[in-house]
Amino acid sequence: MGWLIVDGHQDIAMSLLEDPTRDFAAPAPAGRALSLADARRGGLAVILATIFAPQGHGGNGSPTETAEKQVRWYDELLHRHAEQIFRLESRGDLSLCAPGGPIGIVHLMEGADPIRSVRELARWVDRGVRIVAPAWNTPNRWCGGVEDGSGLTPDGVALIEEMGKLGVVPDLSHLTPAAFDSVLESHRGLVVASHSNAAAVHAHRRNLSDAQIRAIADRDGLVGIVLYRPFLGEGRVDLETVIRHVDHIVGLVGPDHVGIGSDLDGGFTTDDAPEGIRSVADLPRIGELLLRNGYSDDAVAKILGRSWMRVLEQALPA
Ligand SMILES: [Zn+2]
Repeated sequence: MGWLIVDGHQDIAMSLLEDPTRDFAAPAPAGRALSLADARRGGLAVILATIFAPQGHGGNGSPTETAEKQVRWYDELLHRHAEQIFRLESRGDLSLCAPGGPIGIVHLMEGADPIRSVRELARWVDRGVRIVAPAWNTPNRWCGGVEDGSGLTPDGVALIEEMGKLGVVPDLSHLTPAAFDSVLESHRGLVVASHSNAAAVHAHRRNLSDAQIRAIADRDGLVGIVLYRPFLGEGRVDLETVIRHVDHIVGLVGPDHVGIGSDLDGGFTTDDAPEGIRSVADLPRIGELLLRNGYSDDAVAKILGRSWMRVLEQALPA
């Protein structure tokens, strides 16, 4: 179909560093969903590649050490496959991304645990981080976690303000309702939820209320539909289930505020992906089903990639 596809959430470094025998250039092994070969087969043009190093997760070192190791792993990957994958450094680089062309990556830090002081944020921006989620599930110095339910700490407010100054986009996925609200109070600009679904379709603490979805759209952001079974539904979970979440969010705020944030291979296997999705190469199947269900070409193009491209135009420096 030739859609420009953007996947707004892939834990590439974390998944590949967990298993050093895996070769990212080769098709993904059975049960895993991520590889450069599969991304190219699926026509992916841009991937938000995470730095995932919350305290106690993603590696044995400190969060900062783990995050640095992941950045070095990405550097090495880009060096080895320079003709196939590159880091997006400016808005202009987006024009190089097209179906079948080289894949552009932008870093998303999932949990700001690696950042030790507000001053250090700039150093991560220099390394390509353009989107930061203040916390993953566990609390850190910036933000409460899902267990204690609290919002941003005073340091967290300062970090969000610094993000605003440096043009870094806050990612609201994984935040408690209190933290979600405090980010919106501390930040005037664009926000996203890189990988979350609609709580009205499937009640889960990782999914967003209708009010939260509207608040994200009011900031011209988007919600990335996540393809992890527990966040999609109960019982049979297939592409139709995915479409129910898309339908709901499009019904609330329109296709400009919906994207994909698959999270495929994010610490889970393809058994936890919906039926019909076995790797990132299957992402176009979502577009095919949307078209069959009556979505316009324009709406499908936005949901599969153009909405993320609009956000990235704002998130990348000129
Ligand atoms: Zn996540």
